[in-house]
Amino acid sequence: MDATIKSIRPNKSADKQPETRPAELDPAEFLAVAVRADQLRPARAEAEQAVKTLLAYIGENTEREGLLDTPRRVVEAFDELYQGYHQCPAEVLDRTFGETAGYDDFVLVRDIEFTSQCEHHMMPFYGKAHIAYTPVERVVGLSKLARLTDIFARRLQTQEHLTAQIAAAIDEILKPRGVAVLIEAEHTCMSVRGVAKHGASTFTSRFTGMFRDNPAEQARFLSLVRGLQR
Ligand SMILES: [Zn+2]
Repeated sequence: MDATIKSIRPNKSADKQPETRPAELDPAEFLAVAVRADQLRPARAEAEQAVKTLLAYIGENTEREGLLDTPRRVVEAFDELYQGYHQCPAEVLDRTFGETAGYDDFVLVRDIEFTSQCEHHMMPFYGKAHIAYTPVERVVGLSKLARLTDIFARRLQTQEHLTAQIAAAIDEILKPRGVAVLIEAEHTCMSVRGVAKHGASTFTSRFTGMFRDNPAEQARFLSLVRGLQR
């Protein structure tokens, strides 16, 4: 990850250099539903017409029988692939349990499968997310981390932003001692077009709090993710 960002937590000591983080993130921009109810959007018929235009562009006969329903199906597929724009990440993590019963280690959910769409080509990239956080007092149901991943994945993404958004959302809402997110994915914009290399994996990671500050915790997270896996 190459961009630099401001901390989402207030800086505790004013004399300290502002913290930099590896992506430009303002929680206000991604913790809420991405599409406002009153936001002007093209009508469904216009979206279908746009698909028809693309079909004509590649040289197809848009009136042939096999393609008659294609614009409708493509727009329906878009509704599904991009439903994350209408879902609220903050809401998913809202229902927390206050009781950690003295548990003081991190909670790791491994191998959360996801499919997202790259914002450069609108082509799928897919893989697994591994998420750990160390609760202070607020714990979420484990399925919520998978659900959070899906909401962000079902928007146009870069893998770097997906990784950073998941970590920042957990950090911001649960206020844990730290968050670790590792994502491994294959990008079809690289495997079926462009350099056309199959099987190449891209890894991105993001550490906050104790995971960022303590290399031993990072290493323990990574060995739990990788060690038992293959
Ligand atoms: Zn791409």
